[in-house]
Amino acid sequence: MSAGPPFAPIPSAPIPSADAGAAPHANGILTIDLDALAGNWRWLRDRLRPGAACAGVIKANGYGLGDTTVARALVGAGCRTFFVAQLDEGLRVAPTLPRDCRLFVLSGPTPGTEAAFTDAGLIPVLNSREQIDGWAAHARAHVPGAPAAIHVDTGMTRLGLTPAELEALRRDRRALEPFTPVLVMSHLACADMPGHPMNAQQLKAFAAVREAFPGVPGSLANSSGVFLGSDAHHDLARPGVALYGVNPTPGRPNPMAAVVRLQARILQVRHVDAPVAVGYGASHRSAAGSRIATAGVGYADGLPRACSGRITGYIGETPVPLVGRVSMDLVTFDVSAVPETRPVRPGDLIDLIGPHNPVDDLAARAGTIGYEILTALGFRYARRSLGGDAPGGGTERT
Ligand SMILES: *Cc1c(COP(=O)(O)O)cnc(C)c1O
Repeated sequence: MSAGPPFAPIPSAPIPSADAGAAPHANGILTIDLDALAGNWRWLRDRLRPGAACAGVIKANGYGLGDTTVARALVGAGCRTFFVAQLDEGLRVAPTLPRDCRLFVLSGPTPGTEAAFTDAGLIPVLNSREQIDGWAAHARAHVPGAPAAIHVDTGMTRLGLTPAELEALRRDRRALEPFTPVLVMSHLACADMPGHPMNAQQLKAFAAVREAFPGVPGSLANSSGVFLGSDAHHDLARPGVALYGVNPTPGRPNPMAAVVRLQARILQVRHVDAPVAVGYGASHRSAAGSRIATAGVGYADGLPRACSGRITGYIGETPVPLVGRVSMDLVTFDVSAVPETRPVRPGDLIDLIGPHNPVDDLAARAGTIGYEILTALGFRYARRSLGGDAPGGGTERT
């Protein structure tokens, strides 16, 4: 199928830099712009077909940004339906959500965990006949009519009922009687490639699946799926990564506002008098006259080692190439291009992800995708969030 209409990008302002004096104890500062996050959600919601609702996918700790923090901002934007991947994620987030929210758990109950779902008010996504039968038995015995989503595989061969299982279920309607299917869903394999024939196949297959569940709302589109056009929207879109500022339309300009700024603190600056090797493996040689800044972030913080020698940091407007290897806690930049009028000093911050080097660029240079960069963001960063629904929204909350 062809791409949907090109949407005008969301108007947005760059995320302000952390003050170098902020969080002096931390070697890296992760700034999360909750207003940009809320704006991204509203922007996607406004592009859905009339009548379709927009959920928020906050699995994997809200794509690394903090699930309860991002959930609160999305609730403030008007989001009432959330998805996590795992029961434990659901148990952590559920108590922080207002009572009128729904929280779905994508991997569904493993045998024996059904009661934990109903006790916490979580709605399982049932991905197999085993999960359906387990949920039906639990509902019949303890919570007649308990809600659940049903996931049907339309071509991804991952989770979801197979066509044969769906057919068997059609002939055995009593299997569903003890509980209430509140959503029928499927997942797109190639939504980020709008020209891929798989999209049309899955859209057609999902339309047929929905006939087996008359009156039950349907959900198909992830972030990129929203851009496939209104036929992909059904009743509920499930965007994740686009909310967090990653480009859901690879190869086209990113319509989303940036949500993350990541800055590494400089620990030491070395003036090189004679050519020297830099870092493990002596993989880089610096020329005499260059300046090397060592910053306190490494692969233990989720900066991929594959970035070695491949990414560019920024000090203000000046690009500073990462040289040598990324090590566990440290990384080295050639800061020779920074004007002497603006001396680079210990304590200063270098943008790893910022207005000049978006998360998608860093990911591409590391041979991966924005999803992996965000979900790998480490636990050692000082995290600050901007805006959100706190009293005095738009101000800094730490
Ligand atoms: C992760 C996930 C989403 C969100 O996908 P994005 O590409 O991040 O928008 C939606 N649905 C399912 C089933 C998922 O696993």
